[in-house]
Amino acid sequence: MKLVFATHNQNKLKEVQALLPKYIEILSLDDIGCTEDIPEEEDTIAGNAMAKANYVKQHYGYDCFADDTGLEVSALGGAPGVYSARYAGPQKNDQDNVNKLLDELKDHHDRSARFKTVIALNLDREKILFLGIAEGAITTKPQGDNGFGYDPVFQPEGYQETFAELPLSEKNKISHRAKAMKALIEYFK
Ligand code: IMP
Repeated sequence: MKLVFATHNQNKLKEVQALLPKYIEILSLDDIGCTEDIPEEEDTIAGNAMAKANYVKQHYGYDCFADDTGLEVSALGGAPGVYSARYAGPQKNDQDNVNKLLDELKDHHDRSARFKTVIALNLDREKILFLGIAEGAITTKPQGDNGFGYDPVFQPEGYQETFAELPLSEKNKISHRAKAMKALIEYFK
């Protein structure tokens, strides 16, 4: 079975490919010749995920799933949330986002946070949402070189390391995206 995963992010592709059973062949946006940035203009994570999956189905005709992720920080009232990618500005730069987050949190004791991923699946007749949440805390400085985005400052619950210090195989056991993917895979079984 061929399914498009609506992303240009090679790190995400690697994560998701490692999770999927062999009978599901993943095509990336580059594989189908979609080089444009799909608009993410909704005000919820689920809305953005579904908009991306619908865009691919509508413009390219493929069965597709798309994910959208937000980091919700308790002391910031759930920010950056749906705005996580462009938290520090439209350049969507990981380093700038991390720096802004650490700055916003510098006077806060409560460092608790969660990653929330919604995967939207658009098949011929069905549209379905799958949710995955990873609880954790924001560290006071970046640690580790693996992963991407906010990984260097996110310490998952029950771990001393940040996501960026864990090998991908370990992150893939506990991450928000892995949990949402597990629900997607269960659906296909
Ligand atoms: P998107 O929905 O995948 O575009 O992600 C929104 C924002 O969250 C971007 O700034 C990503 O870098 C970040 N992000 C998404 N997934 C992860 C993750 O697994 N670890 C760290 N940051 C992530």
